[in-house]
Amino acid sequence: MNAVVMAGVNDDELVDLARAFALNDSIEMRYIEYMPFEGNHWGERLRMFPAEAIRARLEDQLELEEIGLAETARVYRVRERNGGAFRGRIGIISSMTEPFCATCNRTRLTADGHFRWCLLDEGEIDLRGPMRAGATDEELSRLIEDGLRAKKPGHAPAEELVALHQGASHFGRSMIRIGG
Ligand code: SF4
Repeated sequence: MNAVVMAGVNDDELVDLARAFALNDSIEMRYIEYMPFEGNHWGERLRMFPAEAIRARLEDQLELEEIGLAETARVYRVRERNGGAFRGRIGIISSMTEPFCATCNRTRLTADGHFRWCLLDEGEIDLRGPMRAGATDEELSRLIEDGLRAKKPGHAPAEELVALHQGASHFGRSMIRIGG
């Protein structure tokens, strides 16, 4: 279960969400830092609630024990402060303040056949053209590997991402076009 956390909107509901979904069911309740994408008012009307604050808010009432990093989320076992263990777990996705690019697997294939290796990078490689020209599976694999090698160790600072995403002509494919 995913929840994007926004300051002043739902940051007072984090413990309620954990209890609603992860207390009695083996569901992973995931909290996601709000990221800047074209037209989503990041930093204006809607503000990010950082991972450190998410953890602190949860730990006001719950005990978290870190299990480790699972691809895109830092995962925790959780229990009530009076000792009752949750059946489910908690995950925190801290793309903005504690990025996890080295283990991130959020790649995308766009509807027009381009491979993208990062949601916050405009880089992409055309696979449709080579496919139509008869490329073999091995050749397509090599193109995909080339793309993965182009992945940067981290994304640009938040201010740069906002500027990039607000300059719509520069930002060719918004999140809406590539899918979250
Ligand atoms: S910036 Fe790109 S590689 Fe890093 S976590 Fe976000 S989507 Fe993944």
